[in-house]
Amino acid sequence: MTARSIDGKAIAAKVRADVAQAVAALPSKPALAVVLVGDDPASQVYVTSKGKATVEAGMRSVEIRLPAETSQADLVARVDALSRDPEIDGILVQLPLPKHIEEAAVLAAIDPLKDVDGLTEASAGKLVLGKPGLRPCTPTGCVILARTERPDLTGANVVVIGRSILVGKPAALLFLEQNCTVTLAHSKTRDLRMVCRGADILVAAVGRPEMVKGDWIRPGAIVIDVGTNRVPAPEKGDGKTKLVGDVHFAEAIEVAAAVSPSPGGVGPMTIACLLRNTVLAACARRGWSVPDMLRLG
Ligand code: NAP
Repeated sequence: MTARSIDGKAIAAKVRADVAQAVAALPSKPALAVVLVGDDPASQVYVTSKGKATVEAGMRSVEIRLPAETSQADLVARVDALSRDPEIDGILVQLPLPKHIEEAAVLAAIDPLKDVDGLTEASAGKLVLGKPGLRPCTPTGCVILARTERPDLTGANVVVIGRSILVGKPAALLFLEQNCTVTLAHSKTRDLRMVCRGADILVAAVGRPEMVKGDWIRPGAIVIDVGTNRVPAPEKGDGKTKLVGDVHFAEAIEVAAAVSPSPGGVGPMTIACLLRNTVLAACARRGWSVPDMLRLG
């Protein structure tokens, strides 16, 4: 059997189009503020593309680029000012921050109502308690991808490999919210291969290139690959590299029903979900009703 490759780019484009359509019908344009500290080249690219995507969706983008030597107190003050600014609907602090700054202290300054990354303690608490709130973007992207293959996830056995705060843990809780039976696996899990073989939906968020092999996958399963790993690519020439996921795609596609590739799967969903969260944040804060096309159900 050859599985479908889940087209994350196309699904993300649909989410972004839905966001743009929703924004066009709102009383005013939501605004997303992105704060970048330092000159890490990858972070610069991410921030620029987030700003561009925000504007493309019809929203207002506010970029705040601060020097690497910015003190923690100054950064907290800037984030606090954005939290108090009534014209700002969403705040994203680009991580990682320079080593002299404690991330938790900065995240704590984000108004939970504007926490479009879903990473503050308040947002995490709401997720655990099953209360409405802003959910982390990458795990939400995983759920949306899985639901394009299986619109009702009720009763599905989901195995998430990886228990990070950013991806694994919230992904497990989001699939639980969808009435799945969830196993959260990690580096101490015994017989991981057999655990994975029990999954109707397997989510790999590990950071180990092509760790999940074909014989880890139950025939007919849906596989969501969150991993993005840079590895040497001698076939492209000396010193060249390429990105691969945590799943051995060529093997997985022979066994599963559907596999999200990496790159081209979860990655594009993360930014689409950030835009979606910005609209959701604006609606909650300003008392607007959530446009139907942005409801996850
Ligand atoms: P992380 O914080 O390093 O967490 C990795 C998790 O994998 C940990 O829970 C760890 O278990 C587990 N793990 C490590 N080795 C393992 C093994 N041999 N067997 C089973 N579990 C193992 O990473 P992360 O931030 O969650 O990111 C995971 C991957 O997703 C990375 O490749 C990252 O680049 C990618 N990512 C992609 C996006 C996107 O938008 N596409 C966004 C975020 C992350 P322990 O807890 O026991 O150590």
